[in-house]
Amino acid sequence: MSSSVVVETGSGPGGSPRLRGKTRCPACKAVQEWSDECRRCKCDLTLWHRLARDQARRRVAALTALARQRPQEAFDHARAAFRLGADAETARLAAVTALLSGQFVEALWYARLAESYG
Ligand SMILES: [Zn+2]
Repeated sequence: MSSSVVVETGSGPGGSPRLRGKTRCPACKAVQEWSDECRRCKCDLTLWHRLARDQARRRVAALTALARQRPQEAFDHARAAFRLGADAETARLAAVTALLSGQFVEALWYARLAESYG
C-alpha cells in the first residue's frame, strides 16, 4: 500500500485499529486524511480504507505475537500484512519475524524487498 499509515490500537470502532496519517487516493492521487470518500473526486474509498485497516490489524497482531515470544505466528501475520499492502515497513517486519522464526531465505527475500521500496 503506497500510503503512510500510522496505527492507533484499540481506539477505532469495535476495538479495531484506527488509521492516522495520510493516504493517496488511488483514482485521482489526491493526498488526504483517511476517510471513506475522496475529498477531491468523491471516489468511494471504503474498500481502500478497509484494506489498510486489515493490514494494520495484521501488523499489530505480528508485533503482539513477537511480544509473546511466538515468532512463527508473528511471521504469519507479517506475511499476511505484506500481501494486503506491500511497502517497506511491512517488508521489514516480515524480514525480522522470518529471521526470528529461523526462516532465513524468506528473511533475506523480505529484507531485499524492503530495500527496494526505499
Ligand atoms: Zn480521488
